[in-house]
Amino acid sequence: MTNSSSFQGFNLLKIRPIRALIQWPLYPYIFQIIAFMVFVSLAVTGWGHYPPVGVVDKLYAKSNIVNLVIWGLWWPMMVWVAVLFGRVWCTVCPLELVANGSERLGRRLGVGQLILGKWLRSGVLIAVIYAIIQLCVAGAHLHRVPAYTSLFLCSLLGMAGLVGFFFKDRAFCRGFCPVGLLLGTYGRGGMLAVRAGSNQVCNACTGKDCIMACNRTRLYGRSCPSLLNPPKLNSNRDCLVCGQCIKSCKPDNMQLILRRPFHPADIREPFASWPVTIFVMMVSGFVTGELCSEWKTAQSIFLWIPERFIEHFSLSTVGGWIEGVWAIGVYPLLLWFVLGILAAFNSDNAFVVIRSWRFLALPLAVIVSAGHMAKGMAKFVSWVGFLPYACIDPFGITTASAMSSKIIRQPASLIPMTITAIVGMLLVITGVYFSVREAKLANPETYHQRLAPKIALAILFAFIVFGWGYIG
Ligand code: SF4
Ligand code: SF4
Ligand code: SF4
Repeated sequence: MTNSSSFQGFNLLKIRPIRALIQWPLYPYIFQIIAFMVFVSLAVTGWGHYPPVGVVDKLYAKSNIVNLVIWGLWWPMMVWVAVLFGRVWCTVCPLELVANGSERLGRRLGVGQLILGKWLRSGVLIAVIYAIIQLCVAGAHLHRVPAYTSLFLCSLLGMAGLVGFFFKDRAFCRGFCPVGLLLGTYGRGGMLAVRAGSNQVCNACTGKDCIMACNRTRLYGRSCPSLLNPPKLNSNRDCLVCGQCIKSCKPDNMQLILRRPFHPADIREPFASWPVTIFVMMVSGFVTGELCSEWKTAQSIFLWIPERFIEHFSLSTVGGWIEGVWAIGVYPLLLWFVLGILAAFNSDNAFVVIRSWRFLALPLAVIVSAGHMAKGMAKFVSWVGFLPYACIDPFGITTASAMSSKIIRQPASLIPMTITAIVGMLLVITGVYFSVREAKLANPETYHQRLAPKIALAILFAFIVFGWGYIG
């Protein structure tokens, strides 16, 4: 017997090597250590490196291994992996390792570690940190200057260490990690899920090792370090797929399930919290800007208002920051005002429009994530050709200078833009299907009243992606 027949997917733990891997005492630490070493190597390599004179920073970003790996390969892959498989990146994340290590150190040293408050647990700070990062991307070109990327990596490691030291129970992941909301929102429909098997086995279980607080500080077979309730797990939102509950469960009742996307057995929230709503709004603006950046005409339309503003007030020195505020602040407000009106067209009350944002946030996040995947793919295929050059010349100065003066040609995109555009449009169309389905599962009675905003956002994204390959 299982919790529910609809919970069923394929339990990957039935495959012996996978079971052995998850049960291995060094799992996931060994992968986290490797990722940590890569992180630190990149931070050291990028330290103090700025684009050489005469080379545009966009080209240098692709030539230097630090920016290439972090922003051109890892970031797009993380978006894809999150949407397809939930929070599996968290399994190997080096920041969790650092936070875990410093939490243990703090405990050993007798630090009175704090419990994460409700406010921090809500994700407010994560949304703020995410906004700051996006502003730094637009204003300071964080993603194009290795020195800044290096500082960014060091700040993340430092923050993880500090938070872990002063807070308990995986506080960094639950209230501070800049990608926590992104992974938790995009990863809800992921095909990989940790779930309990039989209800009866859990009910009859006397040990409850997956929950018992006394197991929380162990190295192997901890009770859930994220303070989740593994027997009742019914969402991917907060589960980091760390496998600790699988190890701790003596009756061997936890499963690692591979299942269809957006499995109907998962719990759906009828509406999102405000931090998640605001986060999805910000990302929708960021993703629109990113999609437009692949098509010159679309980009000039997207940036028309901020550019006129910058010109009018002679603010070109802070132009990037203003464009950042536009992309994640002003434009999303305008966009969501329109989407809100479409959702509440029979109401003339502004509060109804604003309230509808919370009902729209999670279903629209599916379309936003599809757009994000499309952009991630476009970026990945156009940047990955630089990897062989970056492996030979990690700092990228010689490569970028040679490419800039046309001594060597820049590598072509792995896939022609026409194909990328088709795949991108298919992603957005698939996103609409799952978005409507998510809305229906969350609010079966009223979901049909909010179809128009989903269609509108999807048309906008699909049109821009179409423009990449067939108009731009
Ligand atoms: S929540 Fe953030 S810090 Fe924690 S494991 Fe996931 S990516 Fe790493
Ligand atoms: S230890 Fe295993 S069987 Fe016991 S409650 Fe937890 S998941 Fe269920
Ligand atoms: S539920 Fe299990 S896999 Fe998920 S975070 Fe908790 S211990 Fe890790």
